Amino acid sequence: MVFDTQAGAPLGDPAFAAVTERLARVQDDIRATCEQVGRDSESVTIIAVTKFHPPELVRHLHSLGLRDFGESRHPESRDKTQATRDLEGLRWHFIGQLQTNKARHVVAYANCIHSVDRIALVDALVSALAQRPVDAPLELFVQLSLREDAGRGGVADRDLEQLVEAIAQHDSLRLRGIMAVAPLGEEPDVAFARARAASLRVQALMPGASDLSIGMSGDYRSALSQGATHLRIGAAITGPRPVRA
Ligand SMILES: *Cc1c(COP(=O)(O)O)cnc(C)c1O
Repeated sequence: MVFDTQAGAPLGDPAFAAVTERLARVQDDIRATCEQVGRDSESVTIIAVTKFHPPELVRHLHSLGLRDFGESRHPESRDKTQATRDLEGLRWHFIGQLQTNKARHVVAYANCIHSVDRIALVDALVSALAQRPVDAPLELFVQLSLREDAGRGGVADRDLEQLVEAIAQHDSLRLRGIMAVAPLGEEPDVAFARARAASLRVQALMPGASDLSIGMSGDYRSALSQGATHLRIGAAITGPRPVRA
């Protein structure tokens, strides 16, 4: 039995209908914002963040054309990727903080990791990848902390180049760019402008690494105006997350 968010009601058609509407609204909004800021909305990837939600929601969003999904916690993420294995073209983005001892598990199902923020994690990913048949390099983003105190995930600005150089040494990794979360209480435009500036420093070292994974439900318009290529959107599409004990 699958349960919906607040009430513990079965996740039936009305809940899916609401998700369909929310997604359409977000997509319209992204198109309108791109037009305003002179960007092509085709250059923007929506990553639907489905953490805490059941696999049926992934199926529903897949039926509406979404292919990129974001999860932040192992083993919930592993279970959901397994439960949706039959869906075509799914791409899983791991967006949560990642412990080195989980790296091996996560590379088994993630197509892209957005939260690489320290050299120890780069090393753990590389040795995990060495133990599996090499098909394509693992895609990743460096998570940059936009806070003064880089405590809660994300590399400090002054350590960015060193981390990028560590990644550049490995053929099994492909750096796409920078990921960041706007700090609470700061104007997202101002915070994301710092991410954009940092992106130029990354590109000076690795010209291909020009993507920007910035923007969530509350600030994706601002992120688009600052050049976001990947939006990680949860609640604005899925509705409120279920509360987990
Ligand atoms: C949960 C989460 C999101 C999505 O947040 P919403 O506010 O629901 O859009 C985006 N990025 C990260 C890193 C997250 O953990």
